Amino acid sequence: MKTKNIEKIIKPPAPHFVGNGFRVHGFIPGVPELSMRRMDPFLILDYNSTYYFPPSDEPRGVGVHPHKGFETVTLAYKGSVAHHDSSGGGGVIHEGDVQWMTAGNGILHKEYHEENFTKNGGDFQMVQLWVNLPAKDKTHPPKYQSITAEEIKKHILDNDNGVVEVVAGEYKNTKGAASTFTSVNLFNANLKKGGKADFSFPEEFTTALLVLEGEILVNNKKNVKTDHLVLFENEGEDFSIQAVNENALVLVLSGKPLREPIAAHGPFVMNSKKEVLQAFEDFNMGKFGYLE
Ligand code: MN
Repeated sequence: MKTKNIEKIIKPPAPHFVGNGFRVHGFIPGVPELSMRRMDPFLILDYNSTYYFPPSDEPRGVGVHPHKGFETVTLAYKGSVAHHDSSGGGGVIHEGDVQWMTAGNGILHKEYHEENFTKNGGDFQMVQLWVNLPAKDKTHPPKYQSITAEEIKKHILDNDNGVVEVVAGEYKNTKGAASTFTSVNLFNANLKKGGKADFSFPEEFTTALLVLEGEILVNNKKNVKTDHLVLFENEGEDFSIQAVNENALVLVLSGKPLREPIAAHGPFVMNSKKEVLQAFEDFNMGKFGYLE
């Protein structure tokens, strides 16, 4: 098989706050090279790099807001987030947990730091990824998958190199617990110092990785520092990563592009402007349900 080379290494763009609880680097589509079109089926990648929140009496976060036409995937690395939605879904995402929410035909939700985390304060590190839904599934009823750290399937690498956690998709015959509408691979690679892992994805898939901890060496030739994102070329299938100097944690994502028109406006991602306007109208009419 052919090596998949790096197309671009991207340093974290200047952070901005989402509500008052999420200090994120907006990689997709904030960085010109990472447009929704190029990153299809991934629409947004917001990365809250490790950031200390002091103790507070008021929970920080984002109040009630709608979504329609895609899925939000939240991965908690440090800190805890509480979530509630208008379909009755909800819960707390603790360190190592993943929440996979299908907004589908319309949902209201709110996302706040969990009560104890708010009281005690602490380091917070999180990724929120938006995965687009194909046109035929944009009307799917809202759905909520809570995948706890214990439920995430783990592939132990040979020779004590570390562990690849499979959130979605498949890694060397280990299948992720998340159900997805299209082919999406989402892995957390925990590499020990010097530990190495190799990956293989189809050429047509959009493939990238985000270094969450440590520094890595890609394809034995290029060093990538913490909080940096690597976009891979489509050409080639195989690449390797290795932890340099210390343990490393890497989020690996690869998904099959939908290749459908993208009409994105705020919290709605549809296929045409007309559908987006309809979504605003439905939201204003109260068709997304009710959430206090
Ligand atoms: Mn949201």
